Amino acid sequence: MSLVVVGSMAFDDIETPFGRSNKIIGGAATYIAWSASNFAPRIRQISVVGGDFPQEELDMLSLRGVDLSGVQIRKDQRSFYWSGRYHVDMNTRDTLDTQLNVLADFDPVVPDSYQDCEFLMLGNLVPAVQLSVIKQLKKRPKLVVMDTMNFWMETALEDLEKVIAEVDVLLVNDGEARQLSGQYSLVRAAREIQKMGPKYVIIKKGEHGALLFHEDHVFFAPALPLEEVFDPTGAGDTFAGGFIGHLARTQDISFDNMKSAIIVGSALASFCVEKFGTQRLKEISREEIDERIQAFVQLVNFDIQLV
Ligand code: AMP
Repeated sequence: MSLVVVGSMAFDDIETPFGRSNKIIGGAATYIAWSASNFAPRIRQISVVGGDFPQEELDMLSLRGVDLSGVQIRKDQRSFYWSGRYHVDMNTRDTLDTQLNVLADFDPVVPDSYQDCEFLMLGNLVPAVQLSVIKQLKKRPKLVVMDTMNFWMETALEDLEKVIAEVDVLLVNDGEARQLSGQYSLVRAAREIQKMGPKYVIIKKGEHGALLFHEDHVFFAPALPLEEVFDPTGAGDTFAGGFIGHLARTQDISFDNMKSAIIVGSALASFCVEKFGTQRLKEISREEIDERIQAFVQLVNFDIQLV
């Protein structure tokens, strides 16, 4: 079993009603790798960083079992930088700045050792890069999952549509699903997106959980009601990491197992928001994860007798 993760590795600067993070480590692939490595032992990362990216962050991922041979280090350039400010509800945010830097002309090279890829997680990144990785794989993976965001809908829609046509599962948030499909109803939006290619569509609704659509089936997973959400950055990527990590570990891509994978993803995301950046993800133990998954089971468990 091998899982290839593609996505940004970045510096983030986050402002929430509770405070400001200043420059910290972020990026879609960073969160995905930290999350998925709780389940999938061999993760192969594809990304690009500048000479300013701390070596100790890369070392921590290597120690975690993440293979970084597909991560290019451009010594004389700067890493991708993103800054955002959350609204008081913590469910919505404004992007204040996106500096592509090394991402602007990133040409990924898939190492030969990654060719046994069975699960491909295309994290948020330039759509042309996501597509290039799919094309470089000689054998189509068992499952291709893709995440994206409004930024790419606005700046690279044509390329984005080409990638969407190639994937099995598309992950987007509610606003992005509406923007992509032109439909306000999420049921209609999911149907329109399925026509674009993916057989499965997951629509994330922040603190209101996530919906999984496949043909005429819908499954809903709540988000764990938390007393305090400190920083929601990376929750979507952490969710994606838990989702694909569970599927890769169990090797089962049925709709029923995707339901479990969504709960695993939601459990991991609930840890991510407890501290700034990747901090909480670096500390959690297997026991804490299992306890939290149980909390989800309890949250939706009820008996009913219909007369
Ligand atoms: P999330 O909160 O799950 O949507 O992901 C937040 C992460 O996405 C941050 O750590 C950012 O570095 C990264 N990010 C933000 N904008 C982009 C972009 N346009 N392309 C790739 N990654 C991005």
